[in-house]
Amino acid sequence: MRIYLDHNATTPVAPEVVSAVAEALRATFGNASSVHVPGQQARTALDDARASVAALIGAPPGEVVFTSGGTEADNFAVRGVAEAYEVSGRRHLVASAIEHEAVLNTVKALGRRGWAVSLVPPDGSGVVSPDALAAVLRDDTALVSVMHANNETGVVQPIAELAARAHRAGAIFHTDAVQSVGKIPVDVGVLGADLLSLSGHKFHGPKGVGALWIRKGTKLAPAMTGGRQERGRRAGTENVPALVGLGVAARLARETLTVERARLAALRDRLEHGVLAAVPGTAVNGAVAARVPNTTNLSFEGVEAESLLIALDLEGIAVSTGSACSSGTLEPSHVLRAMGLTPHRVQSALRFSLGAGTTDTEIARVLEVMPSLVARLRSLAGAGARAGLRE
Ligand code: PLP
Repeated sequence: MRIYLDHNATTPVAPEVVSAVAEALRATFGNASSVHVPGQQARTALDDARASVAALIGAPPGEVVFTSGGTEADNFAVRGVAEAYEVSGRRHLVASAIEHEAVLNTVKALGRRGWAVSLVPPDGSGVVSPDALAAVLRDDTALVSVMHANNETGVVQPIAELAARAHRAGAIFHTDAVQSVGKIPVDVGVLGADLLSLSGHKFHGPKGVGALWIRKGTKLAPAMTGGRQERGRRAGTENVPALVGLGVAARLARETLTVERARLAALRDRLEHGVLAAVPGTAVNGAVAARVPNTTNLSFEGVEAESLLIALDLEGIAVSTGSACSSGTLEPSHVLRAMGLTPHRVQSALRFSLGAGTTDTEIARVLEVMPSLVARLRSLAGAGARAGLRE
């Protein structure tokens, strides 16, 4: 039995999405900008997908711009605001220190080109407080970017309060909601942001498609220049079949959210409590904060997370250390470090992220193998340390 507990890295594509994409690849081949019937069919498919994505986040469809995924949506938001506000003299960008690399490396790149950049640290539980944000805001702040849910810990940020603080300073507020859309209710009206990123492959849609929601009236330079697609905000012939898939995934997410949210929270809690009870020396990172229901980030004292990840993989259980983009680099998590955790606690942290296919039986299996795997790794580490002492 293969057990996939890495849904924050990516999710399996829903069967309904597979069918819809396959059908659109066959039948909806027209260019959505063409005036003839095949073109109109593609346009209708695109409009339906946009309406479905907009409904998932409580936005008017006309404010949703399709992108090639979360990374492009984040780049579009950050670079688009920086470019649009450059002439006004607002050249200060703010992001939280726990953003995904798609935001973090983009503000850093702009920092190397002359923009002033401030990174707001979270508190020990992984929350970015409105007061911590207020401390770095300036009268030339153009943009504040704070993610809705963190990809490593699942911690949900107080977006409405953070957006209000940013607005008081005259700044635009962007939230990367890639890890919250489809997991918890996301309503742009409630959040009070101006820009919001989402990505299809995090909620059972295809990879390489996503969207940036842009509140009407927000000044933003285009993501791509060229034709008039996406109301001139993002040029290029639309990937209609993949966007049809995104639309179906968004509809499914809306239909299943309430039930799945409760089901996953119960499974996650069972996993978390089970590990804490059966494996001594474990701790949950971000435990006291509000979190998305599917994620737990656990540190295992005396264990290198990479070794435990491999041991679990050999048992057929897929988990991860930190984000998929930085795994394999052995770079300690910038998120857990920013929370002020000790280096050992950071290096011994594993992320378990559950999803639609996760069952009670799978969680029971993880709880069955975990104590002995951890004990074995600890005894190997102990033997290694003793051998080291003898050298
Ligand atoms: N933002 C967050 C919080 C993410 O977790 C990810 C994916 O890991 C991204 C952005 C990037 O999205 P995509 O993979 O669609 O480019």
